[in-house]
Amino acid sequence: MIDNIDIDKIRSEFPILKELIYKKPLVYFDNGATTQKPQCVLDRINYGYEHLNANIHRGVHYLSQKATEAHENARKTIADFLGAEKREEIVFTRGTTEAINLVAFSYGEAFCHEGDEVILSVMEHHSNIVPWQMLCERKKMTLRVVPMNENAELDMDAYKNLLNDKTKIVSITHVSNVLGTVNPVKEMISLAHARHIPVLIDGAQAVPHIAVNVQDLDADFYVFSGHKIYAPTGIGVLYGKEKWLNAIPPYQGGGEMIAQVSFEKTTYNELPYKFEAGTPDYIGSTALAEAVNYVQQIGIENIAAYEHALTTYATKRLLEIEQMRIVGTAAYKGAVISFLIGSIHPYDLGMLLDKLGIAVRTGHHCAQPLIDSLGLPGTVRASFGIYNTKAEVDIFIDALKRVVIMLS
Ligand code: PMP
Repeated sequence: MIDNIDIDKIRSEFPILKELIYKKPLVYFDNGATTQKPQCVLDRINYGYEHLNANIHRGVHYLSQKATEAHENARKTIADFLGAEKREEIVFTRGTTEAINLVAFSYGEAFCHEGDEVILSVMEHHSNIVPWQMLCERKKMTLRVVPMNENAELDMDAYKNLLNDKTKIVSITHVSNVLGTVNPVKEMISLAHARHIPVLIDGAQAVPHIAVNVQDLDADFYVFSGHKIYAPTGIGVLYGKEKWLNAIPPYQGGGEMIAQVSFEKTTYNELPYKFEAGTPDYIGSTALAEAVNYVQQIGIENIAAYEHALTTYATKRLLEIEQMRIVGTAAYKGAVISFLIGSIHPYDLGMLLDKLGIAVRTGHHCAQPLIDSLGLPGTVRASFGIYNTKAEVDIFIDALKRVVIMLS
């Protein structure tokens, strides 16, 4: 046991960790991109198809009712996990990207007009930039961008100055997928609310790693992806305050989201179904709930402490390497380390690490404006999950030292 974490037990629950990559044990440090899945989640997917598969909501038959019950129980699990007041405030989406597109479109339709402004930060993922850019183009609005200081922390004075009467929404990442910076989102929300401006928080890199309570944050919208929290791909969550979800129009039309349809007029379903057009991923939702239960059994506070210790250890060991440059040195960081070594191209480092069985990510990490603003060619990113260990960090550092010699 380390920091209340039974790491051997956890590792034994992830079948993929037994894979050999080029005949070497897998060291998987690409958790920021996606996480591996524990056996209980894999089993839940199979169980769904083997025992509970029928289209949900309208069926009178046994299987349909059971599948509906499982999907709606999953919604309740997510609502509790995020600290939402009501299960109706949880909308299942395909992931973070779809959730942000939904809000950018629907909120934009209802509340945004020519000349209005949207505030983002310089460290946003493309999925929290492009949907807003599309809205700005559609409505002739302007994007405003919060800059950061040399420690990769958002410039809060600049943020305060950007908030004005034209600001219609603020959309900020909770944790940067490149820099690891944990942003002061509670304070940012409170500053926006003082001007009655709603705030969306991109929680893709936060929810798997730190405790999140949407009511405590007072977030208006909060989004995340299942696949980054040990659940399958293709399922994610939009939390929205009931008052906002009621105030904005549907995003997509189709089955499920309607109350009555005629060729003259359609009326929409109640929350959350108004935003869930078509057959929902009811297998994905139940597998996501299983993953969330798994995380809660370990304890999100325990996970945060364990990953923090691991990240601190890895940072210290990385700094043993000459010409190491850690990109992102915020005081409060998540389980992500971006770095560069001398003038070695990140891609070369990533390629050679791969040959040694180590999976890291290289490039702009879907945050091109951030990487450009830093004048970098990209970075190498190691991002940790609950099954990673200090022993793996040691293997990584030894491999890096070998690779640097080869490339220098
Ligand atoms: N936001 C952040 C901060 C992310 O790290 C990611 C995934 N890398 C996304 C959004 C997009 O998530 P998805 O591709 O699952 O929709």
